[in-house]
Amino acid sequence: MATEKVTLPRVPVKKILAALAEAHPDAHTALDFENPFQLLVATMLSAQCTDKTVNAVTPALFARCPTAAAMAALPVPDLGALIQRCGLWRSKAQHIHDACAILETEHGGEVPADHAALVRLPGVGRKTANVVVSNAFAIPAIAVDTHVFRVANRLGLAAARTPEETERQLMRRIPRRDWSRAHHWLIWHGRQVCIARNPRCTACTLLPFCPTGRARVRAAT
Ligand code: SF4
Repeated sequence: MATEKVTLPRVPVKKILAALAEAHPDAHTALDFENPFQLLVATMLSAQCTDKTVNAVTPALFARCPTAAAMAALPVPDLGALIQRCGLWRSKAQHIHDACAILETEHGGEVPADHAALVRLPGVGRKTANVVVSNAFAIPAIAVDTHVFRVANRLGLAAARTPEETERQLMRRIPRRDWSRAHHWLIWHGRQVCIARNPRCTACTLLPFCPTGRARVRAAT
């Protein structure tokens, strides 16, 4: 990742993180999984698909294919039939099949606890790899999805045009020990309060620290 320095908005980062922690003390991944393999597959399925739908699909999928070897052995059309409720299911079926074949041949059937190895798998980008290393292996990482991108930039924790820039800027500003928790706090805040079209600024405990929220409230009065 490039490490260019961008001047970031002057916001009280510690206070923002403390308020997020207080607002979302139980924030965690909404995907159901029992091991790194299941988390990897569930995260691949979650692109442009709700976690609720993924959680409805994965029990039958993992019952049929409990390991990477079993998933790689399943013909792609059969795999596709099991994940049809998820968007982009044709390409996801191919990617999951091919990724599982690589897990089997190059990693002994295990998911590597290694970001660089994960992003070499078909269909696995930075966000998915970050979700897997942080949630399955407790390696600090900030996965930037649509909620993290939106909320971080509204709060002034980032001033970025892309998820990659947002990730870099958040890593600069947030202590490494908080990276994974901050990822969950921002997602939960984005789902519950700082929603995309109509953020609930007047009900938001972060309003005193949030440049976007304060501007919205000023404009409305
Ligand atoms: S004040 Fe508004 S814009 Fe800022 S974090 Fe809260 S809901 Fe989002």
